[in-house]
Amino acid sequence: MKKVLVCGAGGFIGSHLTKKLAAEGCWVRGVDLKYPLFSPTSADDFVQGDLRDPQICRKVADQPFDEVYQLAADMGGAGFIFSGENDADVMHNSALINLNIIEACYQSGVKKIFYSSSACIYPEYNQEDPDNPKTAENTAYPAAPDSEYGWEKLFSERLYLAFARNYGMDVRIARFHNIFGPDGTWNDGREKAPAALCRKVAETADDGEIEIWGDGKQTRSFLYIDECLEGIKRLMQSDFTGPVNIGSEEMVTINQLAQMIMKIAKKKLSISHIDGPLGVRGRNSDNRLLKEKLGWAPTRALTDGLEKTYRWINQQVVK
Ligand code: NAD
Repeated sequence: MKKVLVCGAGGFIGSHLTKKLAAEGCWVRGVDLKYPLFSPTSADDFVQGDLRDPQICRKVADQPFDEVYQLAADMGGAGFIFSGENDADVMHNSALINLNIIEACYQSGVKKIFYSSSACIYPEYNQEDPDNPKTAENTAYPAAPDSEYGWEKLFSERLYLAFARNYGMDVRIARFHNIFGPDGTWNDGREKAPAALCRKVAETADDGEIEIWGDGKQTRSFLYIDECLEGIKRLMQSDFTGPVNIGSEEMVTINQLAQMIMKIAKKKLSISHIDGPLGVRGRNSDNRLLKEKLGWAPTRALTDGLEKTYRWINQQVVK
């Protein structure tokens, strides 16, 4: 039986990944500051602990696990990352987690480790045109991420690659682009655009008004959680280290995203554009390397995942 460790198993992607790995027959140890908020954990063993503490890292990575998935990070959506108020915590906490975990894994003989990086590492100067953002993997340098979150991810990518180079660890790195779905944060200030807009639409009566940060013409792509998990699995099974984008190429404006959710909810709402933290003007996943190396890329329409997510958030709102 394959033994795996999932760091960040109480979070959105980590809890879904734990469920999938357990369903596939793995023995899973999960670790996080908190248990999953919306459903019981599927981990065989769940350790509630702080991965900034090297002793906790040694305790959870106490054996040569077949695979380790490192998803723990101090993170959130634009309201959390771009406010400026969380910069020191984001850099300090996430860097400590990564420094401690890779060292503990090396010491206990773990060979294969997955690291979740982000599209936020890409330079701001390549994402000013909302219709033509550049996110090919080899455009990461000269580095100029627009957030400390992106800088920490870039540092940690290099940390994992250095352990691979110097200590023979088998590393896999994905740069996720806006993953969304049910059982994710939706109202605590860390939620991302799909969850925030689903909540606003669900909370607003027909013919009412919702607020959107900025002019809504900023572009993004969004990947449904199931396809993210499929990408992680395929990357782990491949012999490609990465970094590689795991995202959707279906780019929409935030206004279009809001319209899609209104259509699903069967509501006609007006939009009020207000000041707020925004991030880059345009971003889309470039899946050319993903297709070349893994022979696969996500295909599911954005609206399919939004339907499931809206239904789930609507249930939370009416609870
Ligand atoms: P999440 O916030 O739901 O999960 C992260 C988990 O890490 C949380 O449960 C949190 O409690 C845990 N954590 C934070 N600090 C910790 C600590 N000191 N010790 C132990 N646990 C700690 O986020 P997510 O959306 O599931 O993202 C998972 C990973 O993927 C993160 O590394 C994130 O940066 C990366 N990522 C996510 C997205 C996305 O769109 N969701 C995009 C790019 C990258």
